[in-house]
This record gives sequence, structure tokens and C-alpha cells, in this order.
Amino acid sequence: MRLILLGAPGAGKGTQAALLREKYKLEHISTGDIFRQNLREKTPLGLEAKKYMDIGHLVPDKIVMEMVGERLPDDGFMLDGFPRTVAQAEFLEMLTKIDAVILFKVDDDEIVQRLSSRVTCRDCGKVTNVYAHKKCPDCGGELYQRDDDHEDTIRNRLRVFHEQTEALVEYYRKRGLLTEIDAIGTPDEIFDRVIETLEHD
Ligand code: AMP
Repeated sequence: MRLILLGAPGAGKGTQAALLREKYKLEHISTGDIFRQNLREKTPLGLEAKKYMDIGHLVPDKIVMEMVGERLPDDGFMLDGFPRTVAQAEFLEMLTKIDAVILFKVDDDEIVQRLSSRVTCRDCGKVTNVYAHKKCPDCGGELYQRDDDHEDTIRNRLRVFHEQTEALVEYYRKRGLLTEIDAIGTPDEIFDRVIETLEHD
């Protein structure tokens, strides 16, 4: 299975990807995670990407495409946060055949509320809510807020989503690949909707 998880930042793609990885043993390819990993290791790629990530802009297509091109397996993967532009989608189409695209639908106000309370574990990467936990509920690690999860950057990321990424909804609908999912609810409720889509299509 080759899947794309599409949706605004904070729509829950990463949370659903973790559940999908467990159930279907799919490789989770998150371009945002790859950039953050590179940034922690202070690689040239990470330092270059940081300039754009810090202000909520997209990293230039050429950089992202090269990075994804190097890592894409033949099969058994889900892409989270890629593609984000039509040029990236066209590039992907040349590399591989996609089986399904799942769009996670959440409105902007809900996104701002979710992201401004979102924290990540430094040790295991679990994403949770600042009001619910002081330490990581899975491993006890320290929780931190991503630099780009502050309100002004969130607003920028949402604007970029509407201006550059939302066009992919039509792109994949035209190709008969798109399924829309209401992404309001608990992670398990949303996961049930995802499974229903994947197993009934
Ligand atoms: P994410 O974790 O998916 O929200 O990504 C965090 C940031 O990484 C984004 O705001 C962008 O600056 C950058 N980024 C991640 N994926 C892409 C992509 N496919 N194209 C361009 N920039 C990206």
C-alpha cells in the first residue's frame, strides 16, 4: 500500500500515521520529522530548512524533492506532509504510483487551538496536549513545544496550506484517489474512519 496523508498542519496526520504503522506495518515518511531530525544533528539540510520552518514557510521544492527521492521505498509507505505543492505531487507521480490519498478535514480555529497546546516528547517523539500532561505519558520524557507551534507561525502555516497545498485536494480528486475524513474526534474514532476507508475502497 502507498498512501498519502493530506491535511492542514495539526489535522492529526502524525497521530494517525503512528496507528497505521502499527496496524499495516507501513513505513512512515514525514518530511517535517526528517527536517527536524536534520536540524537536531545540525546538518546543512537541517540548517537550510530551519530558515523556512521558523517562519512557517515551505522549504523550496527542489530541496524537498531531492530528500524524498532518496528515501522513497518501492511499496509499503505513507507520506505525511508530502506533497505540499502541485510541483511536488507531479514529481511524486513520476516516481511511483499512489493507491490512496486521505484528506483529514478540520477547520482553522480548531487547528490554532490544537497546535498552540501541542507538545512533543524529547525522547520518544510522542505528541500530546500541554494541559493534559506534565511529562510524556508513554516514557516519562520531557515535553517541549515546537518552535513553529506558536500562534503567529501557526497562522502563517495555515495560510501557506490554503494557498499552496489545498490545490492538491482537487489534484487527487480528479485522479479518483481522494477520500475525505472528518478529523474531529478522538484518535481512535478517527482511526476507525481511516480503516473503513482503506478496507472498503
Ligand atoms: P510538518 O511537521 O509537516 O508540519 O512540517 C514542518 C515544516 O517543515 C513545514 O512548516 C515546512 O516549513 C517544512 N516542510 C515539511 N514538509 C514539507 C514539504 N513537503 N514541502 C515544503 N516544506 C515542508
